[in-house]
Amino acid sequence: MKLSAVKYSIIIPMFNEEEVIEFTYDRLKQVMDSTEEPYELLFVNDGSRDRTAGKMAMICEFDPNVRLIDFSRNFGHQIAISAGMDYAQGAAIIVIDADLQDPPEVILKMIAKWKEGYEVVYGKRLKRNGETVFKKLSAKLFYRTLRTLTNVDIPVDTGDFRLIDRKVCDVLRGLKEKNRFVRGLVSWVGFRQTMVEYEREERFAGESKYPIKRMIAFALDGITSFSYKPLKIATYIGFALSITSFLYLLIVIFQKLFTGSTVAGWASIVAVNLLFNGIILILLGLIGEYIGRIYEESKNRPLYIVRDKLGYPESEGEREAADENSARVDKYVK
Ligand code: UDP
Ligand code: MG
Repeated sequence: MKLSAVKYSIIIPMFNEEEVIEFTYDRLKQVMDSTEEPYELLFVNDGSRDRTAGKMAMICEFDPNVRLIDFSRNFGHQIAISAGMDYAQGAAIIVIDADLQDPPEVILKMIAKWKEGYEVVYGKRLKRNGETVFKKLSAKLFYRTLRTLTNVDIPVDTGDFRLIDRKVCDVLRGLKEKNRFVRGLVSWVGFRQTMVEYEREERFAGESKYPIKRMIAFALDGITSFSYKPLKIATYIGFALSITSFLYLLIVIFQKLFTGSTVAGWASIVAVNLLFNGIILILLGLIGEYIGRIYEESKNRPLYIVRDKLGYPESEGEREAADENSARVDKYVK
């Protein structure tokens, strides 16, 4: 089969998923075979430290519809998805988690919507089965906060499980920012968008690759890439405090002039000092978050480094943009 004939590309980012990949592969294959149209399963191994890559390499050997992009180290979920978009060849591109939390069967519904003419079909989670109360609560809070803080209409309770048209994929590949919050970018680019609803299942096996530390980093990325409202907090607090201080100054002057009680007050000075210092440090940290990201962007390093590509016939290689990324890698490595 000629690669250019590929109609659907399924991108599956993987980080230490050895326990699930055979099952994921089987389910995806079943679903995609049922479309009776040419497709590719594009697995992106995000620097797994277990046998994920080895198992994938074996699958690649006997199934010509499977490809593997093997990263040189762990670059993160969002980058893995972005790499998938660089290498995907289909007319419609679908991103799905490797752990079967997003049921592959929903892809068929997405494809149906795509055929109706929609260019982005995102999956909206109706219910989350088998996730901890903490995860559910923090996710809810995150999506709501994000919505309040940003001007982009990012739909609540949607993950990266979605279908995008080739046109959308090409636009996304043109966005070269390093702090990638893919679901936000997809909303930002516009196009005709719609959703299908589904119930998020329990992880099939293994454990979540998003411990609390990563969840916080992810949330910060999401918010800072789409909003600078947090920076305005400094201005608001500054104003409020200045006005309060001014009023207090009037009181102090009044006391000095008309009463004799100006010496006492050690406690209040210390309290005010601590409070102000605290606020200043928090705001500095906040500004630092933004500056750090500006720094990241300005270095112009490649988004990711590929160690190996499997499942591509020799002559017909990867797409141009993928080459463009490797060109940047070459420049950087030399
Ligand atoms: N993942 C990845 N790189 C990472 C972390 C996660 O490619 O650094 C993949 C992971 O293998 C899975 C998807 O991203 O396919 C979602 O991760 P996970 O299921 O752990 O997240 P959760 O569902 O708990 O939010
Ligand atoms: Mg999961």
